[in-house]
Amino acid sequence: MTIFTQQKIKNMKPISRRKFVKDSIKATTAAAMVMPLGLNAEPVVCVDTDHKENSSPFQFAQIPLPYAYTALEPHIDAMTMEIHYTKHHAAYVKNVNDAIAAEKISYENEKDFFANASKLSAKAKNNSGGTWNHNFFWQVMKANGGGAPTGKIGDAINGSFSSFDKFKEEFTKAAMGRFGSGWAWLINDGGKLKIGSTANQDNPMMDTSELKGTPLLALDVWEHAYYLKYQNKRNEYVASWWNLVNWDEVAKRLG
Ligand code: MN
Repeated sequence: MTIFTQQKIKNMKPISRRKFVKDSIKATTAAAMVMPLGLNAEPVVCVDTDHKENSSPFQFAQIPLPYAYTALEPHIDAMTMEIHYTKHHAAYVKNVNDAIAAEKISYENEKDFFANASKLSAKAKNNSGGTWNHNFFWQVMKANGGGAPTGKIGDAINGSFSSFDKFKEEFTKAAMGRFGSGWAWLINDGGKLKIGSTANQDNPMMDTSELKGTPLLALDVWEHAYYLKYQNKRNEYVASWWNLVNWDEVAKRLG
């Protein structure tokens, strides 16, 4: 007996009963089933055209935005947030999952996925990074955030960069110095905090990345993240963004 998960059912192509019967007679390898989707729903006939026993490849998901589109105003405007989340981010999620299906990628989790980034197609690599990076970015921001962190993360930043102001200066430099599209990062590299940037949708968990470590804080410096409000003035976007940093979430990731 084959167990069909919801995801698997979603991926199947509905076909007519007539074709189902015909195909069932013809096909010797295709697994077929009739699955009632709800009490009032008509049964949907599905054929799993590429069935592998016990296969349920890891797929990426878009986290629910932890606040309203307006929440980060005035630093990030509502229209930018809405387009960023519903268009840009959603497209990365769709595209990476399309690539996983089309290329039969079977890593078990995000960590494995990125550890093998060098083996991925450009589509799988760019869109997996785009998915993960934005999920992370939304979480390390909040309304009325910012200020200097206290506790363990405050100590770690002061220890690694001598002062919070110095840290801010270096991080801002990384964000401003990234030519074209990319991200600025604060990472934990084996107990040592480091600042750097990556191009495009690369991240410090990818085996292809020069900057390697556990992400603690990230800033999206793609023009789509700020252009509607700030146009070419990335410096103003970065300066304003400091008011949004969710230090509690950053501290959680320090462990
Ligand atoms: Mn973005």
